[in-house]
Amino acid sequence: MTTAISIKNLQKTYANGFEALKGISLEVEQGDFFALLGPNGAGKSTTIGVISTLVNKTSGSVEVFGKNVDTHVYETKLDLGVVPQEVNFSQFEKVRDIVMTQAGYYGMPRQLASERCEKYLRKLGLWEKRSEKSRSLSGGMKRRLMIARALVHEPRLLILDEPTAGVDIELRRSMWEFLTEINKNGTTIILTTHYLEEAEQLCRNIAIIDEGNIIENTSMRKLLAELDSQVFILDTAIEIAADFDLGLENASVRKIDEHSVELLVPGGISINQVFSRFDQLGIKIDSMRNKTNRLEQLFLSKLNDNQN
Ligand code: ADP
Repeated sequence: MTTAISIKNLQKTYANGFEALKGISLEVEQGDFFALLGPNGAGKSTTIGVISTLVNKTSGSVEVFGKNVDTHVYETKLDLGVVPQEVNFSQFEKVRDIVMTQAGYYGMPRQLASERCEKYLRKLGLWEKRSEKSRSLSGGMKRRLMIARALVHEPRLLILDEPTAGVDIELRRSMWEFLTEINKNGTTIILTTHYLEEAEQLCRNIAIIDEGNIIENTSMRKLLAELDSQVFILDTAIEIAADFDLGLENASVRKIDEHSVELLVPGGISINQVFSRFDQLGIKIDSMRNKTNRLEQLFLSKLNDNQN
């Protein structure tokens, strides 16, 4: 299988001495829809900046379809379309001109550029706006214009930095449909997001980045299977002194306060088994409730594991 992107031991220390990336390694296969998930400040934009050579890395290597971005600048640029987080086109340029100018950077013949421009402006619902100055566009339209611009040379790999940040629900869904369609048609997609729901809806594979390190790299399916484990909050009749072991594989108990614990029950273990263990240990349970939003929970627990 062809590897769309291969990152090896990537480090970035900014001029002020801040270590934004501490040696991350990552591979994304051709055809994948890949999420780079992480909280604000984790290093997502820095990673994308390095891939698209807008940020100078400190060390490590990046290959796009087997070609090193440092030594094969032009070839890798042809394979890459990048949609940055911040709007970075002129507010005074007209919509169509913004896309045409980009096509010009790739040396595209005018006729082809014109066709592609129309194709992507139509697909992204911007064709009617083609003669307007970009500053008249709504936030969601500006974002879609950046996608059209990134696709005009039909790159094999599209990278989007927080594509739906600040976009309303309806537009978000239509953007998801569009991205799913181009991925089905063969474009490899990497997106950064802090919307877990977005990664769940769209992505086949996922890496979680935190404080400049990759703390999880797995398939969305496996990650969701982990979620088959359930987390409960139990109020106990007796006082709990500390975290304790239930003696059941992978089930764990964490003390929250004197009279409550957080209980993690893995997929393969029944909740009844767990309660009989509590009985045997002489711990009476007064009440229990499910912790909500399990994906969010899992994400937080990964981050906690990383920080401890
Ligand atoms: P994310 O995209 O995950 O929110 P970033 O990659 O933008 O994270 O930032 C990672 C860390 O690097 C943050 O702590 C940020 O403050 C810091 N950082 C980003 N750009 C610079 C810069 N130009 N100079 C110094 N620190 C920076």
